[in-house]
Amino acid sequence: MPTTVPCQYRTGKTLGSGTYAIVKEAIHIQTGKYYACKVINKKLMEGREHMVRNEIAVLKKISSGHRNIVTLHDYFETSHNLYLCFDLCTGGELFDRICAKGNYYEADAADLVRTIMKAVQYLHDQGIVHRDLKPENLLFRTQAEEADVMIADFGLSRIMETEKLTLLTEICGTPGYMAPEIFKKTGHSKPVDIWAMGVITYFLLAGYTPFDRDSQQQEMEAIIAGDYKFEPVEYWDGVSDTAKDFVKQCLTIDPVNRPTAAGCLKHKWLADAEPHFVPRA
Ligand code: ADP
Ligand code: MG
Repeated sequence: MPTTVPCQYRTGKTLGSGTYAIVKEAIHIQTGKYYACKVINKKLMEGREHMVRNEIAVLKKISSGHRNIVTLHDYFETSHNLYLCFDLCTGGELFDRICAKGNYYEADAADLVRTIMKAVQYLHDQGIVHRDLKPENLLFRTQAEEADVMIADFGLSRIMETEKLTLLTEICGTPGYMAPEIFKKTGHSKPVDIWAMGVITYFLLAGYTPFDRDSQQQEMEAIIAGDYKFEPVEYWDGVSDTAKDFVKQCLTIDPVNRPTAAGCLKHKWLADAEPHFVPRA
């Protein structure tokens, strides 16, 4: 049964769900336009309402500012829920595309990583750290193979007032994508997004993530030690040394020595081959 989101919208099927929210397709009754509506249950968020306020503040700051970042169109609340209406991305999560393909061709992975990295650079230039970059939060605008990839889910993002590295100390994110400095609680900032980009790139190239271990404790220890390998070799045989070096740079343990988004874009793997369009059979 469709329900009515504060009168002007009618919600339909569920598009996805995450830690705090259910995202549903919603039609704006007056215009017939489709949106993605993130429904956040206030009770579930009790004591953490500031997170949603923060998400809205960040989205307002960047709204419509970048082609590869989702736009917030509307926002309202009832006594039970908060509603955030976004551009509808009908192409699903990057996570599902990797799973469907097994892994990406290196050239396609480079194109995708370059596009996402440019959007990350834009965010960092605005003083925003995303802190939850992962394939579940990267969406495709349409179902087309070459559809725009979009950064979504600013639920954990922060606006940094200074360039100081030691501003944020709370532990947050998704373990497999979290940088060593988050676990060490020594303070973290923009470099955590670059680390996550390294994990995402590894995942795109291999089809599995670098720090997957039997327990969360072992996973955390592996991340802190930067303990990962380009193995099993049969998954990495066809991958260039340049691509591996790119991953290695992003997965630099010390955030001070990790390249910035601008530095990553200058890396040979992303800088050499400008976006190229491989004809598809
Ligand atoms: P959470 O903070 O709970 O993780 P997200 O903002 O990541 O919430 O949304 C959860 C899921 O809903 C996403 O992983 C994605 O599958 C889907 N989703 C989110 N935003 C959109 C959108 N604009 N268009 C289509 N699907 C979306
Ligand atoms: Mg999410």
